Order: sequence, then structure tokens, then C-alpha cells
Amino acid sequence: MNIVLFGPPGAGKGTQAKELAKHYNIPHISTGDILRANVREGTTLGMKAKEYMDKGELVPDEVLIGIIRDRLQMPDCNNGYILDGYPRTLPQAEALETILEEIGKLLDVVLNIEVPDAELIGRLSGRRMCSCGESYHLMFNHPLKEGTCDACGGKLYQRDDDREEVVRQRLEVYAAKTKPLIDYYDKKGLLVNIDGTGAVEDVFRQICNVLDSYRK
Ligand code: ADP
Ligand code: ADP
Ligand code: ZN
Repeated sequence: MNIVLFGPPGAGKGTQAKELAKHYNIPHISTGDILRANVREGTTLGMKAKEYMDKGELVPDEVLIGIIRDRLQMPDCNNGYILDGYPRTLPQAEALETILEEIGKLLDVVLNIEVPDAELIGRLSGRRMCSCGESYHLMFNHPLKEGTCDACGGKLYQRDDDREEVVRQRLEVYAAKTKPLIDYYDKKGLLVNIDGTGAVEDVFRQICNVLDSYRK
């Protein structure tokens, strides 16, 4: 299965992608996780990206296109992949199509996870992350032990860009630059809407129902 998980910040893309990756045994490719790993490691790419991320702006297209081109060619993508957080602009979507044509791994489906803005703000402000990529929520999805990642035992932290001012900016950037891709993928016949407002397990079940109907 070659999947794009689409949706606004806080829709639950990362949460669902982790579960889907296990269930279908395909890699979860999160451009946000890749960028944050670069920031942590202090790479040149990370230092450049951080300036944009801290302001809630998008990192330039050419940077992301390079990352995704390299990542999709790794052998673990041969049986499929889940893209989370990419594409976010029209040039990114067009570049993706070219790359996927070149490597013969065209998309099967774009799952658009829908959640109203008011709920997104509550999700993002209560989000707690682990450096392993796992995300939790203080109220809706808390770890077994407070402040500690269930998956790896790491210490949970709040993302700098989950502060309220930055969250508002990210939602604006989403509406202006990313949301138009819904129409782009709908016209290609690839879009399936998912109601993202239920519990994590309910959303997961909805997605699996859709994906199972696509599997050969
Ligand atoms: P995204 O990757 O789309 O930005 P996340 O998966 O990180 O979103 O989820 C954002 C926050 O909302 C996290 O704190 C997560 O635990 C929480 N969350 C995810 N899915 C749900 C859900 N169905 N109901 C309530 N909270 C959720
Ligand atoms: P979200 O919770 O909004 O899904 P991500 O972890 O996907 O957050 O992204 C965090 C930040 O990383 C974004 O606000 C942006 O600065 C940068 N970023 C991630 N993916 C992309 C992308 N495809 N294009 C541009 N910037 C990106
Ligand atoms: Zn962890």
C-alpha cells in the first residue's frame, strides 16, 4: 500500500501512521520527525529548518523534496509506505508524482483526516512527544507512566511549535498552502475522507476498512 496521510496539524496523522505501519508492516515516513531528528543532531539541514519550524512556517520545498526523494528510494519502501506531513504544497505534490513515476511506486490512496479547528487547538496544546516519534496527549491519550514514553521509556516533552501563538500560525499556513491539495488529489480520484473526531481506535478502524478494500 502506498499511502499519503493528509490532514491539518493535530489531526492524528502521526498517531494513526504509527499503528498503520505496524499493522501493514510498511514504513512510516514523517517529514516532521525527520526534520526534528536533524534539529536534535544539529545538522546543517536541521539548523536551517529550525528557523522555519519555530515560527510555524513551512521549510522550503526544495529541502523537503530532496529528503523525500532519498527516503522513498530506500529498500524498506518496496512493499509500500505511509507519508505523513508530506506533501504540504502544490510543488511538493507535483515533485512527488514525478519521483513516484520514476521509481514505479505510485500512490494508491490519500487519506484526508478531518477534524474541526477548535478540536485541533486542544489536541496540539495537550500534545506531548517522545524523540522516538511517539505522541501522547495529556487528556486523550496519556502514557501509562506520566512523562514517560510507553514505547521506548524516553522522557516526554512539549514541542516548541505546539505553543498557542505558533499553533495558530500553523493552522493558517495549512489553510493557505496545504488545504488546496485536497482538491488536487480529489481530481485525481485518490482522495478518501476520514472522520478524525472519534477515539484513536475508531479512526484506526475506519482507515483499515478503507485500506483493506484497496488491497489486492
Ligand atoms: P498530527 O501528526 O496530525 O499533527 P498527532 O498524531 O500528533 O497529530 O496528534 C495530535 C495530538 O492529538 C496528540 O496529542 C495525540 O495524542 C492526540 N490525538 C490523536 N488522535 C486523537 C483522537 N482520535 N482523539 C483525541 N486525541 C487524539
Ligand atoms: P504537524 O503536527 O503539523 O503535523 P509536523 O511534525 O508534520 O507537524 O511538522 C512540523 C514542522 O516541520 C512544520 O510546521 C514545518 O515547519 C516542518 N515541515 C514538516 N513537513 C514539512 C513539509 N512537507 N514541507 C514544509 N515544511 C515541513
Ligand atoms: Zn519513545
